[in-house]
Amino acid sequence: MSLNFESFIAYARAKNPNESEFLQAVAEVTEDLIPYINQKHPDWIDAKILERIIEPERIIIFKVSWLNDQNQVQVNRGFRVQMNSAIGPYKGGLRFSPTVNLSILKFLAFEQVFKNSLTGIPLGGGKGGSDFDPKGKSDMEIMRFCQSFMTELYRHIGAETDVPAGDIGVGEREIGYLFGQYKRIQNNFTGVLTGKGKYWGGSYLRPEATGYGLLYFVQCVFENMDEEVAGKEICISGAGNVAYYATEKAIHLGAKVITLSNSLGTIHDPEGFTLEKLAYLKEIGRELPKYVDRYKTAAFYTDRKPWHFKCDIALPCATQNELNEEDAQLLVSQGCICVAEGANMPSTAEAIKVFHKAKIHFAPGKAANAGGVAVSGLEMSQNWAGQQWSSDKVDGKLKTIMNNIHKTCVKHGKEEDGYINYLKGANIGGFIKVAESMLAQGIV
Ligand code: GLU
Repeated sequence: MSLNFESFIAYARAKNPNESEFLQAVAEVTEDLIPYINQKHPDWIDAKILERIIEPERIIIFKVSWLNDQNQVQVNRGFRVQMNSAIGPYKGGLRFSPTVNLSILKFLAFEQVFKNSLTGIPLGGGKGGSDFDPKGKSDMEIMRFCQSFMTELYRHIGAETDVPAGDIGVGEREIGYLFGQYKRIQNNFTGVLTGKGKYWGGSYLRPEATGYGLLYFVQCVFENMDEEVAGKEICISGAGNVAYYATEKAIHLGAKVITLSNSLGTIHDPEGFTLEKLAYLKEIGRELPKYVDRYKTAAFYTDRKPWHFKCDIALPCATQNELNEEDAQLLVSQGCICVAEGANMPSTAEAIKVFHKAKIHFAPGKAANAGGVAVSGLEMSQNWAGQQWSSDKVDGKLKTIMNNIHKTCVKHGKEEDGYINYLKGANIGGFIKVAESMLAQGIV
């Protein structure tokens, strides 16, 4: 007996109708896992390992009521998807965005299982959040929302059960309000959340970790082809935490970053961002068009994505499915040689096919953006040990982790002609440990 990709996807679709993002992530992973299982572990077919791994262990959905500044009652929906705890406690971020729904959180939780396994730290996978829109909310509204959200979530999480962190719309401020409420209810100062502030249990370099780790991974990709990142032109999308620190590290490494973007449009600065320009970007926040008033060599486009500009390296750091087939063709035709994902699943399935066909280097988010959750894992270790490590120590460990992830991808993704299929390498490399652990723990 052997597994068949089309029949497996039909099974997944019947079980999870209308969950397009989740099904996209399942297809992206099982396309590589099915041939691997058929060839190397046919015994895992009867054990129903794939049917089990795509089924969340638990999903919690809850009401979050709160009062806005006008004392009007607001109602949002809260979620936590506890996907897989075979190798450690559930771990993954919380996303606050009006686009949040169950399909998106299930895809994120599913990806997180493989990503966390790749870090080499014992972390299971989960994800959560709310359809709450933080845009335009006052600080007190954010606080009241976070307190109401945690008043339900606290009973489902714990330092050894499930450890949430940030994601889109959830940064250090939100983690602070969530942590404060958890501590008040439980009377327990523990590492129940990561991404905490540096004075109250947070790790140095956690804010920088995803963006820095992305560049460390890209460095490995270039070293592997006897090339270097210095001197390369990079297009980055997004203007949040990941995009910001990816730009900063790229500048440190001597590369030239020429685009950043948000929902308003794209800044193209052909002279490249500098640390001073980045500081200004932090000051203007979401108001990206203001940048070109100060820096006259740059232009702002409301109708062009970063992928429309010629570059050597593309780093999608905004959100899922932001880079489609047409964008991928444009990148390839203009000479881009490496795409590494800072966001989760920013490239559509069709875009990935274009990259693979052109044999350019494509590093999927579960490998390339794992630096964030890796430093979250280091934050948990510091909390358990009652320590705070120096930023140099954390940086050294982050580099080693990204290097090891790269090695795992090469080990499982190298094809006969020498091309490295990083997606396949990451999928198989992340899967083996989780599958073996699930089997060892019996039918539970
Ligand atoms: N949200 C981040 C991710 O996608 C970080 C998760 C964490 O630190 O737990 O990996």
